[in-house]
Amino acid sequence: MTNDVLIIGGGIIGLAIATELRWRGANVAVLCRDFPAAASYAAAGMLAPDAENISSEVMRSLCWRSRTLYLDWTNKLEEITGLNTGYWPCGILAPVYQQPTSKSTTNNPSISLTYWLDQAKIRQYEPGLSTDVVGGWWYPEDAQVDNHALMQAMLAAAQSAGVEIKYGVAVEAIAQQRGQILGLRTNLGFIRSAHYVLATGAWTNELLPLPVYPRKGQMLSLQVPEFLPQLPLRRVLFGENVYIVPRQKRSIIIGATSEDVGFTSENTPDGIQSLLAEAIHLYPQLKDYPIQKLWWGFRPTTPDQLPILGHSAYDNLTLATGHYRNGILLAPITAKIIADLIWEKKVDPLLADLSYSRFQDKLSTIQPMLLTHTANFSVADYNKTTIDAAKLAISDTALTIAGKVFHSRLLTGTGKYRNITQMQQSIAASGCEIVTVAVRRVQTKASGHEGLAEALDWQKIWMLPNTAGCQTAEEAIRVARLGREMAKLLGQEDNNFVKLEVIPDSKYLLPDPIGTLQAAEQLVKEGFAVLPYINADPILAKRLEEVGCATVMPLASPIGSGQGLKTTANIQIIIENATVPVVVDAGIGAPSEAAQAMELGADALLINSAIALAQNPPTMALAMCLATTAGRLAYLAGRMPMKNYASASSPLTGIIVG
Ligand SMILES: Cc1cc2nc3c(=O)[nH]c(=O)nc-3n(C[C@H](O)[C@H](O)[C@H](O)COP(=O)(O)OP(=O)(O)OC[C@H]3O[C@@H](n4cnc5c(N)ncnc54)[C@H](O)[C@@H]3O)c2cc1C
Repeated sequence: MTNDVLIIGGGIIGLAIATELRWRGANVAVLCRDFPAAASYAAAGMLAPDAENISSEVMRSLCWRSRTLYLDWTNKLEEITGLNTGYWPCGILAPVYQQPTSKSTTNNPSISLTYWLDQAKIRQYEPGLSTDVVGGWWYPEDAQVDNHALMQAMLAAAQSAGVEIKYGVAVEAIAQQRGQILGLRTNLGFIRSAHYVLATGAWTNELLPLPVYPRKGQMLSLQVPEFLPQLPLRRVLFGENVYIVPRQKRSIIIGATSEDVGFTSENTPDGIQSLLAEAIHLYPQLKDYPIQKLWWGFRPTTPDQLPILGHSAYDNLTLATGHYRNGILLAPITAKIIADLIWEKKVDPLLADLSYSRFQDKLSTIQPMLLTHTANFSVADYNKTTIDAAKLAISDTALTIAGKVFHSRLLTGTGKYRNITQMQQSIAASGCEIVTVAVRRVQTKASGHEGLAEALDWQKIWMLPNTAGCQTAEEAIRVARLGREMAKLLGQEDNNFVKLEVIPDSKYLLPDPIGTLQAAEQLVKEGFAVLPYINADPILAKRLEEVGCATVMPLASPIGSGQGLKTTANIQIIIENATVPVVVDAGIGAPSEAAQAMELGADALLINSAIALAQNPPTMALAMCLATTAGRLAYLAGRMPMKNYASASSPLTGIIVG
């Protein structure tokens, strides 16, 4: 049976959405490669929108709504499963060591219940606090849940509701075509569904180029000694550099560091020592409690620390990721909002501010190709007839590569220009949004590649690092990794693109199909969006697509030859069978050839030499831009059929005779 919805990721977010959708009648499966690696097990379980002092209004509102849902949600899970979730509306106390300004201690109950407690008061609340504490805030509406117990209850609830949970399934790549997800390539084969949800937490960036990164947190727990008949702490302590969370099961959770170290695993002496020092300072009696356990986890963070929720660049893929330090709190509201969106087509107003596109807009100046090009032309003698593309009812989807949306279908490069100014002018005139850069030439500061970082506006142009000059798969893999670092240095943190070139032959510069396939396989596994440059071989193109490449880039004729389309028949077969974008690369010498390749149905073109080596590169760049657009329009319009014999343009009936 095919599923209505397939959820990638079995952390709290994936499971909560799966269960909610199932309760509403959807047929749901969850794919998860490794449950214990989820941040959801590593968390402290605080439900703390007030103590967290969240500055974003949208986020505050989302968190408050979720906290309100928590009691009923956990009650329902407990009723269904008979398991305790450890939900405890214990409130959170936030002690401080320095007296804040009098203004900030004014209570503002209209926002949320928050009380300032002076030193005497806070000691009544929690007698064991450090004598250095001068007061603190009391947030009675904040709460906690035992996230481990909750995850067990959620798994049980999901299974009893009939959610199919597939453990040990790693999604390796997402196959996409023309704005649709076709299926998922996994370690257990290809899996399809009608709709997909991406809930992969800190690992999201391995599958789609979304700006979600790991932020490591180390934690530990202490055991409440047996000689203490009662829990010494009855509420969460939210200190300045540490939090202390008492659990009803007689353990005390201490957290958490916040480290920007990628997916570096394990606890460190420094991390644990700093947590213990801060915790003992805040609540001294902890110094004698036995240490129970140490662990760490990866919070899925985004540049603005807000989650990414809602539609994606694909019609049948919904995003639910990037919950950073509040994913446990946000689980019920995320499940509700996402189930409303997928199952009831109801769009929560908050989704507008949580869309992935808030990052997309910042990363590139996307100007819809068909609608704006006519307005952009600045060549003086260009025929000024303006065309209102909208009135022509042209409907086209954007070019989407590995989830990133582009509106120009012309990609260019930086090589072979006579000087840097010509390159800058040409790239601007081409209207392109993607520029490929030879990593090796930048590394070796080859002529024309010095100052490249400053020469182009990398906030607007997406860098496509390429592995030109690599003769073997191993070399290409190494250079691809350098390319990723290069993109990061230019501020494109989430850029995992690589144009893969493995070219052992220096005379014809033809790519090595076996080396390319081997390197592609490895790079996809490492989370790259691989755009392989290949001979126009339909079987190879298919194999590359199957290993998870983001595009295929067949050559029109040898690199830099300007011979035009010599491989038309094979490119046509590749286009017919491809489920990823086909980018015709190399050999195009004139705009007519560019237009012809687009007329065939290519999704995009990469043109460098024909522009850089023209007598007037910027003008040629504009010509290539127009040709690419013209070819695309012709493809969308559908050309007339060819006939063997003439057919008069004017009708022969009704002519006046005599
Ligand atoms: C130390 C620490 C303390 C925290 N404390 C709190 C707190 O007190 N309160 C709070 O609200 N939040 C807290 N958080 C944040 C919270 O834990 C996270 O926001 C939340 O767990 C994210 O849930 P998730 O389901 O999105 O991601 P995860 O729980 O990380 O789950 C993602 C899942 O997707 C799977 N996956 C990823 N890629 C693939 C793939 N390609 N194929 C198949 N499966 C894949 C992973 O294996 C994982 O199981 C804390 C986090 C940490 C690390």
